[in-house]
Amino acid sequence: MEKKRIVALRRLNEAHLQRLRETFEVTYFEEPQQQPEAVAAALCRAHGLIGGKLQVSPAMLDEAPQLEVVSTISVGYDNLPVAELSRRGILLTNTPDVLTETTADTAFMLIMASARRLVELANMVREGRWTQHVGEPHFGHDVNGKTLGLVGLGRIGQAIARRALGFNMRVLYSNASPKPVLEAEWGIERRSFEQLLAESDFVCLSVPLTEETEHLLGYEQCRAMKRSAFLVNIARGKVVDEAGLIRALEEGLIAGAGLDVFEQEPVAPDSPLLRMDNVVTLPHIGSATHETREAMANCAAENLCQALRGERPRDLVNPEAWALRHPHPLQ
Ligand code: NAP
Repeated sequence: MEKKRIVALRRLNEAHLQRLRETFEVTYFEEPQQQPEAVAAALCRAHGLIGGKLQVSPAMLDEAPQLEVVSTISVGYDNLPVAELSRRGILLTNTPDVLTETTADTAFMLIMASARRLVELANMVREGRWTQHVGEPHFGHDVNGKTLGLVGLGRIGQAIARRALGFNMRVLYSNASPKPVLEAEWGIERRSFEQLLAESDFVCLSVPLTEETEHLLGYEQCRAMKRSAFLVNIARGKVVDEAGLIRALEEGLIAGAGLDVFEQEPVAPDSPLLRMDNVVTLPHIGSATHETREAMANCAAENLCQALRGERPRDLVNPEAWALRHPHPLQ
């Protein structure tokens, strides 16, 4: 039987590609952004698409009549036209769960690093500017015993909350739906977004990027925070109005920030955020460990295989597309 054809985009290693080649005819692009026409041409004949940071336009989908599944190697899918995929009956899958703990580690690393001024003080040592015992001008702030406000208490938010409770923090959350079981079990408390901003020593964003959450936090929201508070963003850059955040930091409305994600990535080298000692900036590494990226690639490959075998994939994002492909489910 003729093999189904898939287009694979970075980052899949040789072992993943070899496994996929056993079942599919694979066209792989390591640098797809440099070959958009070749990617589009390959997609015209493809049954499946797998990769990270996928850029898929409705026009590309129009030219890909055989496409059955798009498998993104990420949990977020704000970069993909979900409604357009669903309308065409193209399944969309993502990689939840396998990256939860690692991304929560990144969030907590940013909480600790910004509160204790890790990058600023480590640079002082590396650059030979540690000439006398540090005094008050170099002191940081405690994390233990403080209040963490989690905006988004989904998989990653909950994993951050567990870490915070281990640090004896008080945990507040604002979330689309209430989590009464977690409130009872963990002693965490739900707040409105506005109330959470006012009460928290650390505000951590862990919501998906949607129309509702785009620019959720900007200058006015920073003004509603404590002047001693820190903002941590491991969600998506566009959840923050970056210009508003920069202005708030310049005016000292908040104490600092820890940012894994930016409105534009890679962040512009002349961004004022890069010149601020009280801002810790990371290159979008929330899930970037060997173990977790391997698990994400395996998860995405498994979802792709399930879909192309005609099975309902484990991590299906758009059940509407499945319903369109299978209008008469078995009774
Ligand atoms: P999740 O389990 O779906 O959790 C998202 C949570 O946000 C849910 O609890 C949801 O509420 C809540 N929410 C959605 N819209 C909201 C709104 N408008 N206001 C308040 N709460 C809202 O997703 P996850 O696995 O935790 O991942 C969260 C996001 O993190 C991803 O979408 C991705 O963008 C980002 N992420 C970043 C990295 C990185 O490398 N920095 C890595 C992984 C993920 P309900 O419970 O009511 O649905």
